[in-house]
Amino acid sequence: MFSTAQQEWETICQHLKNEYGEATFKNWFSPLVLVSYNEGLVQLGAATKFMRDWIVTNYGDKIRDLWQDVNPAVDTIEIIVKQTQSAPSLTKPQATPTTIVVQNGNETEGPNFVESALDSRFTFENFVVGKPNELAYAAALRVAESKTVQFNPLFLYGGVGLGKTHLMHAIAWHIKKCHPDRRVIYLSAEKFMYQFIRALRFKDTVAFKEQFRSVDVLMIDDVQFISGKDTTQEEFFHTFNALVDRNRQLIVSADKSPSDLQGMEERLKSRLGWGLVADIHPTTYELRLGILQAKAESLHTAIPKDVMEFLAYKIASNIRELEGALNRIIAHSTLVGREITLEMTQEVLRDLLKANDRRVTIEDIQKRVAEYYSIKTSDMQSARRSQNVARPRQIAMYLSKILTTRSLPEIGRKFGGRDHTTVIHAVKKVEELFSQDKEFAEDIEILRRTLEV
Ligand code: ADP
Ligand code: MG
Repeated sequence: MFSTAQQEWETICQHLKNEYGEATFKNWFSPLVLVSYNEGLVQLGAATKFMRDWIVTNYGDKIRDLWQDVNPAVDTIEIIVKQTQSAPSLTKPQATPTTIVVQNGNETEGPNFVESALDSRFTFENFVVGKPNELAYAAALRVAESKTVQFNPLFLYGGVGLGKTHLMHAIAWHIKKCHPDRRVIYLSAEKFMYQFIRALRFKDTVAFKEQFRSVDVLMIDDVQFISGKDTTQEEFFHTFNALVDRNRQLIVSADKSPSDLQGMEERLKSRLGWGLVADIHPTTYELRLGILQAKAESLHTAIPKDVMEFLAYKIASNIRELEGALNRIIAHSTLVGREITLEMTQEVLRDLLKANDRRVTIEDIQKRVAEYYSIKTSDMQSARRSQNVARPRQIAMYLSKILTTRSLPEIGRKFGGRDHTTVIHAVKKVEELFSQDKEFAEDIEILRRTLEV
């Protein structure tokens, strides 16, 4: 029963994605989970009360209609709050994850705190700096250390899980420690919007504005959340201007650069781009390795070098996932008393590794390598054996082996029907040259990286 409902939910998700677009889908629907299905009642779990309210108000009927199209037996959709992860909190930084299920409407309102909680682990000390994030790090540190406004706003942007929130919390911690007299407010754009909508509902917008008046540093995380929400944008714009006029520091993050924020008013976009715009690039292998080392050290756990390298190489999507992977193997090892090895890692992380499997195809690799060595792509399949063609072909075979999940015979077939032993030979040859010839190794590294992204 439940698995059928799960399939139905997936179908509905597809419809929602088509109808509202990737961004809205990602923000609102993909965090929903199917909780239960019983006698025509479907329960979906949202991560926060805010998310639940928003979905119920804006998309509740839509979800029900779609569900009835797929399965007419369903008559009620209930969205409940279901926190599956421990919320980072100041007082209990390492609280054990609990599952809190709150029924629709039964949740008691807490005190109306405008701020979001800060995670005690997100400090500058715990932030590993590398090429991809050095600008953002330097800018964040500068803002945290200086008493005067440097650039307004500081706009941090980058993909999911690359350290934006970490840097913002680090700024907040630093100021709280070194300049305790300065008032810092950190909040997610989601929370900003929620508070604002509440204030509107309770006709209390004056008090809402007052909250920000005495602030020295205001940080709003993930502003892409307010794109398309016109009144909230308007309010944000005014708050923003009022603070800039009073020479207060603003720090904003988003998943895109100001000019790429879709559904954002032009004047707001341009305002956001006024100060310093610092982007965080996708991670490199070196940075991932550095983060793993720092993390293992902080957990006082010795992890074999090959396991670290394997993880840094395989889990390239984002740092959150990388940390999750490390935590999982450590937890597994502690629980079942098993030594951490490469084999064990592959086994424990099978599902994650599959999801991270590079989508690069053998054709991509052949094309890229051919371009790099200025030969014809068709030479990847040809019978020609001259060195200037044979070597790039071997490199492409090697890269196909390490970057795809294709088997050796499959790889051989794609290279003009060669035997799998030819592929083995190519891989060996490339590895040999790799260790002997520094320039060659660099070439391969460059190729690998351009194919990785
Ligand atoms: P974002 O806000 O960009 O989605 P986060 O700041 O939440 O990403 O980072 C995701 C996780 O990765 C956090 O646990 C954070 O501590 C960690 N992380 C990100 N960048 C670094 C870094 N450079 N050094 C150490 N940990 C990092
Ligand atoms: Mg974040």
